[in-house]
Amino acid sequence: MHDTKSGIPEICPNSRNRSDRLASNNYNVHMQENRKTHAIPESREGMLKITEIFHSLQGEALQAGLPTVFVRLTGCPLRCTYCDSEYAFYGGEWMHFDDILAEVRKYATPHVCVTGGEPLAQKRCAELLSILCDEGFQVSLETSGAVDISQADHRVSRVMDLKTPGSGEQDKNLWTNLQEIGPKDQIKFVICSRGDYVWAREQLRERRLDELCDVLFSPAWEQQSSRELAEWILEDQLPVRFQIQLHKLLWGDVPGK
Ligand code: SF4
Repeated sequence: MHDTKSGIPEICPNSRNRSDRLASNNYNVHMQENRKTHAIPESREGMLKITEIFHSLQGEALQAGLPTVFVRLTGCPLRCTYCDSEYAFYGGEWMHFDDILAEVRKYATPHVCVTGGEPLAQKRCAELLSILCDEGFQVSLETSGAVDISQADHRVSRVMDLKTPGSGEQDKNLWTNLQEIGPKDQIKFVICSRGDYVWAREQLRERRLDELCDVLFSPAWEQQSSRELAEWILEDQLPVRFQIQLHKLLWGDVPGK
């Protein structure tokens, strides 16, 4: 999830349009391999539906810049206007926890990010999070904020969206999640406009979000100027962290990066 689009102009010369990207031979290569062994699982116990597993730099949040293995789960009940992970809404392949773990272990990095879609929409996601923690990985979870996050292992750093009006999914915010948020979690707003910024600023101040955890303000790709957002934050002296999506600056808006 949550490959929301950063407001920085695209500079990657290799960027291609969405249909080209989805047709890419490199896309979902692990899933193509997996298809051979798990096309028709006899039982879904200990399994999750996975769109892709890939190795990249974390592009967002406090972990930005760290080499990370991403496990992208299939499916999301939301339809944010700026979503660029629609390819994770459908399809995917059933994978057993053991196979997911084996794939993650191929890369020499302690950082694992479980994302989607909305990963928590699959109830066995919580089990995977605990297994990854037990295995000694430093685990983060990217979640929409529309699903109860209390099911996620407390060793996990939860990066939770609060959906702004511009997302089109504001009414899906599960505000009781704020009771669960702790210091190692992060709250993220994707800002589509000045109206979204004002709304996010209101939530920040009224709910004292910065006293709960780090708060991220991120410009929506091709909708909100990143410089403008940075200036608003400075002007209002907001206690938030401005962020842009590093992976898109490096590689453009492509899956598997
Ligand atoms: S919550 Fe779902 S629809 Fe919204 S940005 Fe994330 S993956 Fe896309």
